[in-house]
Parts: sequence; structure tokens; C-alpha cells
Amino acid sequence: MLKYIQITEKDNVAIAIEPLAKGEDLGGGLVTQDPIPQAHKIALRDMKKGEYVVRYGVRLGALNRDVKAGSWINEHMIEVPQSPGLDHLQWGTHIVTDLPKPPRTTWLGYEVPGCEYAGSRNILGITTAVQCVQGVLDVAVRKMKEELLPKYPNVDDIVALNHPYGCGVAINATNSDIPKRYVRNIAKNPNFGGELMVVSLGCEKLTLDMILDKKDITPENVIVLQKEKGFHAMMDALMAMADKKLARLNQRRRVELPLSKLCIGMQCGGSDAFSGVTANPSAGYASDMLVSGGATVMFSEVTEVRDGVEKLAARCVDEATCKKLAKNMKWYDDYLAEGKVDRDANPTPGNKAGGLANIVEKAMGSIAKSGTAPICQVLDPGEIPTKHGLIYAATPASDIVCGPSQLASGCVLEVFMTGRGTPYGLASMPVIKVCSRKEMKEMWDDLIDVNAGTIATGERTIKDVGTELFNLILDCASGTKKPFAEQYGLHNYLCIFNPAPIT
Ligand code: CA
Repeated sequence: MLKYIQITEKDNVAIAIEPLAKGEDLGGGLVTQDPIPQAHKIALRDMKKGEYVVRYGVRLGALNRDVKAGSWINEHMIEVPQSPGLDHLQWGTHIVTDLPKPPRTTWLGYEVPGCEYAGSRNILGITTAVQCVQGVLDVAVRKMKEELLPKYPNVDDIVALNHPYGCGVAINATNSDIPKRYVRNIAKNPNFGGELMVVSLGCEKLTLDMILDKKDITPENVIVLQKEKGFHAMMDALMAMADKKLARLNQRRRVELPLSKLCIGMQCGGSDAFSGVTANPSAGYASDMLVSGGATVMFSEVTEVRDGVEKLAARCVDEATCKKLAKNMKWYDDYLAEGKVDRDANPTPGNKAGGLANIVEKAMGSIAKSGTAPICQVLDPGEIPTKHGLIYAATPASDIVCGPSQLASGCVLEVFMTGRGTPYGLASMPVIKVCSRKEMKEMWDDLIDVNAGTIATGERTIKDVGTELFNLILDCASGTKKPFAEQYGLHNYLCIFNPAPIT
């Protein structure tokens, strides 16, 4: 039975499929010199101090000591290299057009008038202009769910889009465009059917013209709490507006649509060294099938692709796309530098326990989720795409911020790869979980939707799991299946990205 996985022939390390004891014979004369935890790296030959550790055919960093073949190589032994330069990136040198063909080319979605994409769910999303309104809105939403929602069986849910932005902030400061864009674009997500309902306090800095187009700022769409005579009047106004919006949403029906009407996001969280071998390549395979069928797939997480920027540039279809990629990487380098950290602040203790030595190793695994398709557009955080295909949407890697970022960019479903496990979910779009290890699926059988761990043991191929995931994405987008997080109602907060000052 195979005991380790070596990814490319250039690699001088491999990862242990199961925990290995000291003195285990791995074949070919290789014997473990230390106990090696699952998913951690084994030296495949003797190596000297200063020599580069190579995995995925990529230098993870230089060794700070000599090691013998069969030794455990952990994060303390590898020095993190400089991140690749951004000034002379070569675009378009690796454009792959031979993508796997999708076994299905249609899905069932909710069309939205004037929108490029369709919804996977039919939800009344209630936008908030400021955090101050949350208490009142939450009470109203509970009442709406009890008294109104049962009257409208075609509506899936009512979601208060609560967030911490809106006031007590420097509203015109550098980078304030990011949180403002999130609030405005989340309201336009296709899962909300084009119905606008905004709750304002009345004195906040985030004014209605920053959230809505001028034509949409009407008494039909906006409730200002300071204009209502007390709590009960507020509740009456909120209930009356929701009733009208729900009645319209209730008229919506799913229709058979081409894949070009579907826009989904991919992210990973709680990664381990298997993520880049099993879960992320399967997601990449599903992504290639979706893109080949005309769908739009976004991948994100700047710090997790920063060290692979040259690989991404090579897949950019034109110079403008490559320049925007470099611009977003540079912006994030500066943002981190301001906090006196760098991209290597990213790996968590869980990532490291899972065998990921540093951000270079994490990045190479993370990029695998984008498959091989050309990158047709790069988006600033929370921006809405204008092209169809594989898109790089620049966002923080933080799971709870990346999800709302993809929601703002118009994704109607998210696929989430995990090695260590997280029960993460969002109220406004279904989240499918894919695990990288068999043990994760055994531990959390009723939380993990797709088990990619069987790839490491040779039971299934990337194509098998990628095709299973592709089909599950279409089933969940079509509403014929629900991922576990949606079945249980596991919803994280809507954490929007605010790199601007709070006053
Ligand atoms: Ca993440």
C-alpha cells in the first residue's frame, strides 16, 4: 500500500498518507528517521543546509539545517522565501483551452430581470444602511418568518443583511470604496431576485445614494426608522413592506437555464497538506467543467495565491487582466506591510499541524482549486464581473470575509474545501463542503458533503470526485439538493471587508 504522495518528479519531499513510525520501510531504500505525522513532509533524499525544499515542483524555501533521507521536514526547518515580483509578470504564456466537457449543460435557476446571472435561491434580502438598525430589524424578521413567510411557499427565506459598517467610519477615506461597494452589491445578488428593501436609521454616514441607484430611492424600497413614530410603527412599516416584496418574490419560478446563467465561488479554509492533492484539484476539475460549459467560477484569497502569482499571470487572457492581478497583489502587500506582517502571517496553527510548512506550500495547494482554465477577468474586492468564465476575485483569505466578498461579486453558491474541518455556512447562498482527508469525513460525516480523501488512498480519481462535485453543484444550485450547512441553518455573520478607518 502506498505510504506517501510525491506530486512532481522534481520534488525532494513527499507527504505521509497515514502517520508513520520511526524506522518504517517506505520502499526503494527509504526508511523513516523520525515519527512523521499524517500529511507532513518526508525528505526523499539527503539534503544540505541552504538547499531548497521542493513540492509541486516549486521551491517552498531553503533548509536551515542538514537532513537525512526519511527525516520529517516541518515548518521550523524551512526559511520563507521572498514573494515573487509583480513588475514584470508574463501574461498569456499558459492558456489551456482543452477543458473537460460537462456531463450536463443546464440547471434550474431563478432569472432576475436585467441581470446576467440567475439565483439559486429565492430570498428576501433586507439591506441595512447601518448597524444601529439591527435590533429592530431582527425582531421584525422573526415576526416576518412567523406571520408572512408561510403565506409565500415559493420564497425560501428572509435574511437581514446585518453588517458592522455604516456609521462611525471615515466614509470618504482611502479604501472606504470597498465596504461601500460590498453593501451596494450584496443587495443586488441574484438570490434576492432584484427586490430592494433597505432599512436606514436616518443620520448615518452611509447615505442611501451610496447604496442605491437614484431611481430606486423610493418609499417603496426604503424605511427610515427615525421617521417612524415609535417601535410599533417601525414594525408595522417593516411588515407591510416585506409583505409586498414577498408577494412579488413568490411569483418567481425556477426555469431551465444554460450554465452561462450560473456564477459560483470557490474558497478553502482549515487547509492541510492534502488539500492541494485531493480536495482542491477535484474542485479545479469541477471548475474546468463549469467554465467549459459557459458558467462563471470565482476563486479568491489574495495571500493564498500571492506566491503563485506567476502561474496565474501565465493564465491571464490579456494584459489588462494581468495588470489588475498585479495591482490587487500589490495593494495587499502594502496593506499587510502597514500592519507590520507579511503573507506568511496567513497559515494558522491548524494549517501547520496539518503539514503546511508555510504560505508558499499553502498557495500551491490553494491555486489547484482554479483548475486549468484561462483567467478572463480579475475583480477588486466585492466588484461585479462583466465577463463569463474563470475569474480571480481578490479578497482576504479569511473564510468569514471571503464568503461575503464572493456574495457581493454575485456568486449564488459557494464550494468550500477543508482539511481540518469548519462548520462554516452563509444565510444568503448554499455552501457545499469538500474534505481533503478520509478521517475528516469519518469524523464529520453529517457536515461534509463530498469526500475527496479517497483520492489520497487511490480509491477514486480527481476526475471521479470532480465530476461528483460538478453534479452536486448543479443539484444544489437547482434546489433539488441542499448541502448540510443549509439543511441545519449554519450561518456565519456577514463580515464585510473594511480596510478603511473607523472613527
Ligand atoms: Ca479561506
